[in-house]
Amino acid sequence: MQIKLWGVRGSLTSPMTNDEYSLKLRRIAEYAIEAGLNRNSNIAEFINSLPDDLKYVYGGNTTCVTVTSNSGTMYIIDCGTGIRLVGYELMKGPSGKGSGMINILMTHNHWDHIQGLPFFTPLYVKGNILTFYSPFKDQLKYLNEQMRAPYFPVFFEKTESAKRFITLDAKKRTPVKLEEDLVVDFHPLKHPGGSFAYRFKQGGKIFIFASDAEFTGEVLEKGGQQEDDFFKNADLLVIDAQYTLDESFSKFDWGHTSYTMAVNCGLRWKVKRLILTHHEPANSDAKLYDNYLSAVEHGENCNNDSMKIDMATEGMIYRL
Ligand SMILES: [Zn+2]
Ligand SMILES: [Zn+2]
Repeated sequence: MQIKLWGVRGSLTSPMTNDEYSLKLRRIAEYAIEAGLNRNSNIAEFINSLPDDLKYVYGGNTTCVTVTSNSGTMYIIDCGTGIRLVGYELMKGPSGKGSGMINILMTHNHWDHIQGLPFFTPLYVKGNILTFYSPFKDQLKYLNEQMRAPYFPVFFEKTESAKRFITLDAKKRTPVKLEEDLVVDFHPLKHPGGSFAYRFKQGGKIFIFASDAEFTGEVLEKGGQQEDDFFKNADLLVIDAQYTLDESFSKFDWGHTSYTMAVNCGLRWKVKRLILTHHEPANSDAKLYDNYLSAVEHGENCNNDSMKIDMATEGMIYRL
């Protein structure tokens, strides 16, 4: 499987401000002076030596992740603004010619998980078939509502592509067999209005996406063995980590997790690689990098010696 992150910001798109950009430039210039950079220097090596928040932009697009199976079929998780970029990519292939088969799995319907769909170009190409997998039986209604006058000029159901809706049984939670050797399980999460995690299993590898989730000690207790069984031993877990621990106390019941708790979860479930996502829109890259360093330090204090931790970054690709 190949996993690509297209949107990692939580709640609201948050483009970088000019002030933040200027500050980054200034800090990079300071590093360059300190490194004695000159025309003979290896620029790539210098860039690579910079702290993550100067090396990258974490990204301002809201939630969208793609999973490409070993057969080459792509599955899109959520339609945050990151899906606009997926659309451009898909338009280069069959979706640009009206023969695209596009699979979308929905975690829930908060704005930041659907607001990119009106700008997903393959939606407007006749012949394309979009299949939505969702545990919400009113999925079509929710997508129609965000794309109707006066909020949007084109009504969702009137767009040129064909749409299919597959409702996942949220009670029985029967796993979905997407391909002969690719099974997807889903699991309810504590989040206002409900949200679902997805677990992809193929070729003995496990990828779990669990954003928009408030993991607390109480939630883990309540989830019991069933929850532990769902999350354990993932090769890659992308998990909600919007808050600091303090913020998670003052925003109790808002439906998101602190990076501290996210690390605890990863360790409890023996995850191999943990990706912290759904970044708080108010946070600059510098603040996110600070949080990341604190998350890694927290892991070390908990004797983490094997789980890798990353900050979700737009465009990042993982292969399992
Ligand atoms: Zn969200
Ligand atoms: Zn949400």
